[in-house]
Amino acid sequence: MADTFNDARFHPILWVVQMLSFPIDRHNQIGVTSCPNPKHEGQPRMTCLLLPKKNRWRCRKCRAWGDAIDFVALALNRNKLESARWIIRNARLLPDWERFEEEDRRRADAKRPKSGTRAVKE
Ligand SMILES: [Zn+2]
Repeated sequence: MADTFNDARFHPILWVVQMLSFPIDRHNQIGVTSCPNPKHEGQPRMTCLLLPKKNRWRCRKCRAWGDAIDFVALALNRNKLESARWIIRNARLLPDWERFEEEDRRRADAKRPKSGTRAVKE
């Protein structure tokens, strides 16, 4: 069971939220989407920050927060184990989450100090 949770948490938060068909605005390092918390008071539109680096999310208004499993649990009203299984099952069906991993890798590469610039010039 612990493995199920670990496997599910490993999936990029942006991918999981996209799988739920939540709209995502991208702002550089972070994404913004609607709050999944059913107890969120008022308009939950675009109040939720998605933090790909930490692989977590946090609502600016109701202060709900968590990881990918928590997001699914609130959005689909399921318990944590069901949510973890939902993530893993959907990952098998549509394994295009590798795209997000690649994006993260590219960002990491861009930040690294450039070595071998001489080779590029020549
Ligand atoms: Zn909220």
